[in-house]
Order: sequence, then C-alpha cells, then structure tokens
Amino acid sequence: MIYVKTSKEEDFVKWYHEVIEATKLVDFSAVKGCVVYHEYCLMIWSRIKSYLDNKLMPLGFQEYYFPALIPLKSFKKQTKHFEDFFKEVLVVSKTGHSRLEEEYVIRPTSEAIIYESIAKWVKGEKHLPLCINQYCSVMRWESFKPNMPLLRGNEFLWQESHSVHSTKKEAEEYVKKVLDIYRDLHENFLAMPVIIGFKPEHRMFPGAEYTLALESLMPDFKSVQTATSHYLGQNFSKAFSIKFRNKSGKDEFAYQACNGITTRVIGALAMLHGDNKGLVIPPRVAPYQVVFVDFNEKDILESVKNNKIRFFVDDSKKPVKEKIDYWTMMGAPIIAAKDSKGFALIRRDTLEKTTVNKSSLVKEIQKALNSIQDNLYRKAKEFHSSHISKAGSWQEFEKIASGRKGFIGALWCGGTGCARQIREKASKNSIRVVNPAKTGKCVHCCKKAAYSAVFAPAY
Ligand SMILES: [Zn+2]
Repeated sequence: MIYVKTSKEEDFVKWYHEVIEATKLVDFSAVKGCVVYHEYCLMIWSRIKSYLDNKLMPLGFQEYYFPALIPLKSFKKQTKHFEDFFKEVLVVSKTGHSRLEEEYVIRPTSEAIIYESIAKWVKGEKHLPLCINQYCSVMRWESFKPNMPLLRGNEFLWQESHSVHSTKKEAEEYVKKVLDIYRDLHENFLAMPVIIGFKPEHRMFPGAEYTLALESLMPDFKSVQTATSHYLGQNFSKAFSIKFRNKSGKDEFAYQACNGITTRVIGALAMLHGDNKGLVIPPRVAPYQVVFVDFNEKDILESVKNNKIRFFVDDSKKPVKEKIDYWTMMGAPIIAAKDSKGFALIRRDTLEKTTVNKSSLVKEIQKALNSIQDNLYRKAKEFHSSHISKAGSWQEFEKIASGRKGFIGALWCGGTGCARQIREKASKNSIRVVNPAKTGKCVHCCKKAAYSAVFAPAY
C-alpha cells in the first residue's frame, strides 16, 4: 500500500502534508490554525518531555501549572514592547452576554502570570534560585491562516522554564545551561544538527536583554527556529516587583532567565529525516523502537522488555505486507518479522533487511538501533555542513540566495532597515542568528560590521 504519493524532492510542501495526513500526527480542527494532536505525535512529545525532565530536574527545576488566563493588567506590565506582541493575543472580556469584571488574555506565554506569583513567593536570598518548569499550550493568533501543520499554528504545545536568581552571573549561566540541554536534545536525541547564536534585536523576545536560539536547516533550505533561551536581566523583576533582601540587608531586584521549546520541533523532525515512504524516527525519540509483526515468541519479547527496548506487537488481522508498509510509513526504526530462515529485521533508515537467528536477535536489535541513530545524525550533519556558504560581497550574497541553497554567513551592520532590505532583495533570506564581529564591513550597506550573521529563508 502506498501512503505517500508525492516525492520529497519533487514537491516538498505537498510531500510534508501527505506525510502528516497519512501518519495522523495531527490534523486540522474546526478552529482556524489549530490542530488536533493525535496519540502518536503525543507519544513523541512525551519522549521529548521525559528527556527534558531528566536534564532540568538536576538543575533544580520543578514542575508547576499556572492558569491559561492572564489578567490583562498583568500582561500589560510585561514589557515596553507590549504593543508589538499584543496583536497576536486573544482577549477574553465576556461570559455569555455579561461583561467580566476584568479582562483576561489567553496565555501567549506565561511570564506575566508566573511572575505575579513569584513576586509573592520570593522574600529573601534563601528562596533563590527559584526554577519553574511548565508544559502547556499557548495561543498566538496569526493574521493569516497557518497551513503548515506543526510548523505554524494559532495554538501549540510547549515547554517553558523560568528561573529567578540573586546574581546576574547565575542567571546568565542558566540561560546557557538550558540552551545546552536543548542543543543536546537536538543533536543526540533527535539527530538534528543546529546552529546557535543570538537573535538580532528586532527578533528578540520583547523585554529580553538578549535571546539565544537554535535553528535547524530543512531539506527545502528553509530554517526552523525550534528553541530559545532568554536572559531577562531585571526588566521583568522591576515590572513585577520581584525583590529579595540581599546580604547587605538591602532590597534588590532579581535576575531572570526563561526558555522554551515547542512541538514545532516534531514537524522539523518529520521534515528532516522523512523520506518518500513517510516518517523516519530516530530510535531515541521513537514511540516504538521495534515493531514485531505477527510475533508471539514470548521469551524474546520478555528479553526485549528487560533490555528496555520500546516495542509494539502488531497482531492485527491485516496481511503481513500491509503491516510492514504501515509501520515503515510510521517511521518505526526497526520492523521485525519471522521469515523462513529465522527472523528478519528491516531497518527504517536504509530499508535494509537482514536475517538473524533467535539467540542473537535482541543483541542485533540493540546494535541496529545505535547504528540507525548514528546514521541519521551523520546524514543530517553532512547535509547541514554542506549547505553553509560564506558571502564576502553583496554580489556573492545575491548569487547564493538566488540558488536557495541553505544558510548564508555574512557580516552585517546591525541595522534593522538594512536587514529588511536584504530580506526583500534576496529571496526572503532573513537573519536567523548573529554573533558579535570585531572587524569588516556589512555585506549589504558596507557600513562597519557589528555582527557575523547567518541568513536563510525561514518557516
Ligand atoms: Zn548593513
């Protein structure tokens, strides 16, 4: 059975839609730009969540849940750039026909509601650092109808963490520590290479002193921003009055960091590793690492379980070939079935089939899972590394941009107007991340360069 008809190389966007539809990761709902997350997608998200929990808890993060409604007056305290953000925010002002006593916004991000509580909880230095982790959904209403499921949407699931510190140094360390957890998640768990850098000022989280981001290059040479880590300085602690009594007995505003990663990373995962048969899921994040087709060798299943390999036994009444096609489309790293010579293992990344005997089956599965994880990262890294070009002049920049071949590294003056002109002139190449530069001239306007920037069209 063929589930995905369009080839990835021929029409990438159509291919992506067919994969999402066939695998039922999500589907569109009756609400504009909001999707229904199906079980398999949520199983992938659960894997990501447990990875994050294992890394965040040793840093002192604890899980909380705050209300989805935020008093509008709290939200307005949030930032001097409040208006920029407000156009995407849904406001609740009525119940039935009656006006509410006060207006609320539906959580587009949780700083305001969390920091109102933190201001009550933090009294002295002994309460710090205070580290909060939350999994929830957020709503950001786009003016257009988002049509790339998981990549863009009016509501999405995310992890957000917020930490409050008594020193600038410690807060900045946490910005880097959580960013490093995200990097490790991408590279070693999702087999997804990333570039890391600062967001230019016009792309920063409103109210942040600086924002660091992870970006990954997709096979259609567009970049996806999958996670961010922000240093907030004392901007929010001053707005929300988060103070502590310091060692010299004086009240001091706290230093803060916040971080987030969304379910769009699952869309990026599908895009990056998927092929013309459907999803290809790296073993560490796969809901089922092995799917056994028509298999009732209880001793083997027991041993697989004891070796902590996640598995599923498909004993449905469908023909074997149909089951193999289905689990291939779902991206199961290994499909195992009995064959005339022993047991056949089909690895999803290469579609290679090997026959192994019963005594070595579990060992061979473990070996293959490690090899698939490594192979997917190696392939993705090769693609990533071979699509980073440097442009020393505007002529070179335009030439690379017109070929649409990935990330372009170039010097930039730091001017927002200049960045806008680059984007307009050069096939929507926008600045993804920047790092400070000491010498050289802007690739576009030839003014003194402030940054070494990485450009790409983006989702
Ligand atoms: Zn410039």
